[in-house]
Amino acid sequence: MDSKEKKQKDALSRRDFIKTTAVAGAAVGAFSLFPGNAEAIPVPKKWDKTADVVIVGTGYSGLAAAIVSRQLGMKVLILEKMPVAGGNSVIAHGGANAADPVRQKRQGIEDSTDLHFKHTMEGGDNINDPEKVRYFVDHALDDAVNYLERLGVKWPEKVVRGYGSLWERTHYPGTYTDPKGQLWKMGAANVRAQLDELERIGQPILLNHEVTGLVREKPLEGRVLGVEVKSKGRKMYFKARRGVILASGGFGANIAWVTMLDRRLAETGTTNHPGATGECIKFAQDIGADTLHMDYIQAIPLNDVKPPYKASFFLIASEEVRKASASMPYRIFVNKEGKRFVNESDRRDVIKQAVLAQPLFEPLPAVTAGTIEELEAKLGLPKDSLAATVKEYNAACDAKKDSLFDKHPTVLVPLRTGPFTANSRAMQRHHTMGGLRVQGTTGEVIDRWGKPIPGLFAAGEVSGGTHGANRLGHNATVDCLVFGQLCARTVAKQKPVG
Ligand SMILES: Cc1cc2nc3c(=O)[nH]c(=O)nc-3n(C[C@H](O)[C@H](O)[C@H](O)COP(=O)(O)OP(=O)(O)OC[C@H]3O[C@@H](n4cnc5c(N)ncnc54)[C@H](O)[C@@H]3O)c2cc1C
Repeated sequence: MDSKEKKQKDALSRRDFIKTTAVAGAAVGAFSLFPGNAEAIPVPKKWDKTADVVIVGTGYSGLAAAIVSRQLGMKVLILEKMPVAGGNSVIAHGGANAADPVRQKRQGIEDSTDLHFKHTMEGGDNINDPEKVRYFVDHALDDAVNYLERLGVKWPEKVVRGYGSLWERTHYPGTYTDPKGQLWKMGAANVRAQLDELERIGQPILLNHEVTGLVREKPLEGRVLGVEVKSKGRKMYFKARRGVILASGGFGANIAWVTMLDRRLAETGTTNHPGATGECIKFAQDIGADTLHMDYIQAIPLNDVKPPYKASFFLIASEEVRKASASMPYRIFVNKEGKRFVNESDRRDVIKQAVLAQPLFEPLPAVTAGTIEELEAKLGLPKDSLAATVKEYNAACDAKKDSLFDKHPTVLVPLRTGPFTANSRAMQRHHTMGGLRVQGTTGEVIDRWGKPIPGLFAAGEVSGGTHGANRLGHNATVDCLVFGQLCARTVAKQKPVG
């Protein structure tokens, strides 16, 4: 392939690539990062600890699995390799999509679980697992939004259209006040509320405990019996009498894997915490597990860019915009020519494609100005470029019609009142939509021959199937909470071993 062809292929979105490649659907579905390693860990003669369920990871999915496991009377070991709990969940924005008859009705928004299903499937190019998506939408309100509310999280009265969520069903941002009176916001609120619940019921979390492999009766047969763990240089074995739940998150911080799967992301930073390295996917593959959709990697322009990374565009807001919502679709994206280049309320993969095509520039620290002309000068944009863009955009807001990019009317908010702000943004590796293949209504991990692996379950970003080719923004919080709880319920039904 010459360099021109390479550029052309890069310019195709994943979606277009699938559509134009006859065998792509099957090839992507069958993709495995590792072929599987027959060097399984031998069953230890002695186990260091035993519980009904061993949960790996302390993000939304692991914490929800732990809480429900305890409610169902199981003895729980919850392991975290990092020195702090929370993974990506604690640094996340924590928005949650669910059809919500109370809030949405008040706002006159039409919605239903069927519509959430339709949007999630279509947004994922219909390669999602429909059975899993059905379970997901049917449990989104009670097992995510209301579940957190029961633990003390407060959601705003109004739902919004989150970045890439494609509908007004995002509960965002949540807040939580802990028993000492400290206020927590967004993802940290969702995590803190669950950690406090575990503390209340006396459930410890084993920090600095890294799972280094899974123990199965035979390399590719029989039941998963437990995990190999490393802590303070010591190797240990923890037995799971009913099941192991992998809730170990995605691999957005694993630059080697991401680059291998989507090399356009090699030069980008990440929004992820350093522990999002995905090794548990490989451990499961080592004992026969299948994966799906591993090469669908979501990038979003979430945080301000700092050197050595370059910026692709400025995120611009006015006073009206900040009042409307903290969410990105309400802002405008402007390139270094001072022009809009994308529908800011579009699908995340479409925006990724558009942003990756913009010329790069050195990022600036956050800039504030009293007028648009002053902002334009401070950003070093061509004279009158931003002023013309904003004039045209404000007219589109007044007319409730964006003839340039067809931005959704509900997020057309004008830029008339200062102070105006600009932030340097670029794509950052954010979410890995693929992962372990699981059965959508039980959470059992499926092997490469299509059978459940007895004793092994997975929930959250370590697993695939919910989001397909493109995750709707704010579907992940719900995915983790719903399937973390589902795994716990399934594990509780397993017959305990030895
Ligand atoms: C900055 C940011 C903002 C986001 N905002 C939103 C949002 O507003 N709405 C939304 O829907 N989604 C959002 N997401 C995505 C969503 O938050 C994540 O998909 C979700 O938090 C993942 O939860 P999890 O439980 O699967 O994994 P994590 O929260 O990442 O937890 C996994 C844990 O497992 C641990 N672990 C990994 N491997 C091992 C091992 N070998 N041994 C022991 N422990 C291990 C990790 O250290 C980690 O603590 C955001 C993500 C980020 C990064």
